[in-house]
Amino acid sequence: MGESNYGFDTLKVRAGYDPKKHNYAVSVPIYETASFELGDTDRAARLLGFSELGFIYTRVSNPTVAVLEERVATLDGAAAAVAVGSGMAAVTYSLLNVAEGGGTILTTNKLYGGTIDSFNKLFPKYGINIHRIEDSDNPEAFRAAITKDTKAIFLETISNPNAAIADIEAIVRIAHENDIPLIVDNTFATPYLLNPIKYGADIVIYSATKALGGHGNAIAGLILDSGKFNWGNGKFPQFNEKYHNLRDASGNPRSILEVFPQAPFAFRVRLNYLTYFGAALSPFDAYLILIGLETLSERVQKQVSNTEKIIKYLESNEKVGWIKHPSSKESPYKELKEKYLPKGAGSTFTFGFKGTLEEINRFIDALEIFSYQANLGDARSLIINSPKTTHGELTPKEQKLAGITPDTIRLSIGLEEAEDLISDLKQGFERAFV
Ligand SMILES: *Cc1c(COP(=O)(O)O)cnc(C)c1O
Repeated sequence: MGESNYGFDTLKVRAGYDPKKHNYAVSVPIYETASFELGDTDRAARLLGFSELGFIYTRVSNPTVAVLEERVATLDGAAAAVAVGSGMAAVTYSLLNVAEGGGTILTTNKLYGGTIDSFNKLFPKYGINIHRIEDSDNPEAFRAAITKDTKAIFLETISNPNAAIADIEAIVRIAHENDIPLIVDNTFATPYLLNPIKYGADIVIYSATKALGGHGNAIAGLILDSGKFNWGNGKFPQFNEKYHNLRDASGNPRSILEVFPQAPFAFRVRLNYLTYFGAALSPFDAYLILIGLETLSERVQKQVSNTEKIIKYLESNEKVGWIKHPSSKESPYKELKEKYLPKGAGSTFTFGFKGTLEEINRFIDALEIFSYQANLGDARSLIINSPKTTHGELTPKEQKLAGITPDTIRLSIGLEEAEDLISDLKQGFERAFV
């Protein structure tokens, strides 16, 4: 349908879906099937030999999931996408795919708590070192830390939970000068606020559980391949490995780069990680994320606008020690926000609560609208005490490195009336200090 000419809001409700190919169904059908008929033995041979692309088994691919993949790939300008069962599966599969067999991932301390935990507890056991840069606001610090063992730089475009903004363009230049890709977690921004591929990022991942789906009703992840990185540069031999299941018509094994040159990273995740490690997304959950995506711009716009009003209120509250969001007065990320996030820097942020632990607990317990839970990007407004929950697994030293001080409160602003949210916070502060 000449999709490349359409704007974002048209694509978010239409890309990747042609009703004519699905019995003219208006809403994307949920193909709730584990397996697909192979037809006849000739067709089976073509499918299994990849000379015809089609559906075989839902762990590997599924028509409902495929619409979600194509829709998000289109929104982000990616060559291909792979949907997986969670944001954590997206993080893990991407980093294993790039550093499998050993190597170092260069990253920062400003990351989602689950990602930090997996870096501490699991990746080193798979032979993958994680090198965290302290001065990650300085792109040159990445250059100084790259060694011949470095396989990728991994960043959150807007960090969880303190909303630090990464200077993607400067960091991608350094990555590419060293023949390594930049992998970014764009969960907080969503493709509505930021398109990292436009700035050179090679791989983009999402926890679709958050603002992309936006309704707190499904766990899902996505891995997007820009299709532009040169995986044949000698640093990534896994892309040149010859596989028997990719053999040509005369039976010669071929590599991922030979068979899928347009999006080798995404195809390798599907062929190896989805197929063998198996964190597949269910068709029903893919459907829920597709429905959520239809209102992505409208939701994020309102959430950003509500967030800015709430930040203004918190700035006037003497019990608030600090606010970490690029729209707060004191933010060091104003210039980066102007450049990368002119439509807003998302709806999740932290503030410092000036009070004792008991007062913090009374504040949270007193709130009537804000839900106390670990999700974010939801249609509802959410609150959580990060040091005790999302980042509770970290030692005090690790919390400090991640920028999680004992007074940290995280808010994720939803779609309610901003005035009601502010009133709720006001009465919470009053009841905290009785
Ligand atoms: C929540 C989150 C994840 C993990 O996603 P799940 O869908 O919960 O597995 C990864 N990265 C960021 C930035 C997140 O906020």
